[in-house]
Amino acid sequence: MNRVALIAHDARKDELVAWVGRHVERLRRCTMVATGTTGARIKAAFPDLDLTSVKSGPLGGDQQIGAMIAEARLDMLIFFIDPLSPMPHDVDVKALTRLGTLYDLPMALNDATADRIMQGW
Ligand code: PGA
Repeated sequence: MNRVALIAHDARKDELVAWVGRHVERLRRCTMVATGTTGARIKAAFPDLDLTSVKSGPLGGDQQIGAMIAEARLDMLIFFIDPLSPMPHDVDVKALTRLGTLYDLPMALNDATADRIMQGW
């Protein structure tokens, strides 16, 4: 069973929901965790997926997923950051990309990379 974390910041949420739709058959065989609002959006579109939501990102959800990376409880991170949003997410982006790099976790920050990861899955 593959364990996938899903986070989308701000204007990237629609893109992440569309990405889940493109890969939904494969994701049905995965256990997923998402930050609060992202998870609610995905669940509304695909209610049958095995998806648990943690807190919303600004309330600590990104850090909860960071702890899962440190504890080797994830196999993949799909993290659609919004490069056009102002600074508030900056610390969370740095923390999660640092941990994903440190623990050598397959990690996608954009659609194209996320597609490639799924092709090789
Ligand atoms: P959200 O959190 O899915 O609750 O919006 C993501 C974030 O903003 O870090």
